[in-house]
Amino acid sequence: MPELPEVETIARTLAPDVLGRDIARVEVFDPAAPQPNGATLAALVTGRRVERVGRRAKLLLLFLSSRPGGDVDYGGAVLAAHLRMTGRLIILLPGATTANTRVVFHLSDATRLAFADVRRFGTLHAFPVGVPGRGIETWPFYANLGPEPLEMTAREFRARLGGGRTRVKARLLDQSVIAGVGNIYADESLFRAGIRPDTPVDAIGPSGRDKLFTALVDVLRLAIAENGSSIRDYRDAHGDAGAFQNHFRAYGREGEACLVCGAAMRTMRVAGRTSTFCPNCQPVPDGKTR
Ligand SMILES: [Zn+2]
Repeated sequence: MPELPEVETIARTLAPDVLGRDIARVEVFDPAAPQPNGATLAALVTGRRVERVGRRAKLLLLFLSSRPGGDVDYGGAVLAAHLRMTGRLIILLPGATTANTRVVFHLSDATRLAFADVRRFGTLHAFPVGVPGRGIETWPFYANLGPEPLEMTAREFRARLGGGRTRVKARLLDQSVIAGVGNIYADESLFRAGIRPDTPVDAIGPSGRDKLFTALVDVLRLAIAENGSSIRDYRDAHGDAGAFQNHFRAYGREGEACLVCGAAMRTMRVAGRTSTFCPNCQPVPDGKTR
């Protein structure tokens, strides 16, 4: 599933092909992909210019202009793509098709932006800007997102991790606590911080929290620099793979030698997810982790 670095990469690679173009037409092949439906989404986005490409958590966002001439009710609009398991946003080359295309946005200069999705869990959403009660902030999924890890301070992170017996990895994966972190970057940052995925948060002291925050920020920045991690499905907007999978120290390395101490890497289930860790470097906490 694309996480923060993958969606950030899609946004960066998409921008040069879509910025300044108008959405001329929307072609819907899978009526389940646009929410609430294709006609509503098309009516809201058609005729608007793409002014900015952005990301919030694991959502890719296209910020669209107000429509020239008329349309007094609306300012701009926001198109949000939730890629979930296997969703992709791809720029189609002239004449090219792509398998499992759900929706195609035809832009004014003949550029085609395809939303493709093998497993069909991904969704597209559009919201007007400046219409009370109808903006993206009224979408519960969006409204509940926690802060961006690359925009928060260590102090904020220490506080947001909270207390109690909740296991640390479950807190990292909780999108209302910190936005954009999934299984890969949770495992990688916990390994680098030397914290076992099932450690209760109240056993992690201030310096353990700082270490985890530093590790998380480092891992996310490095992954963005490497254009994300391509394990199975993820590709950028031009169909190119990322390279951060070559830097994995924990994720997917069960049974392999720990890159620090040589012990065999192990897995456990935390928050319903397979979690890979080193039994030496990420020990069971005895009392408080400093
Ligand atoms: Zn180790």
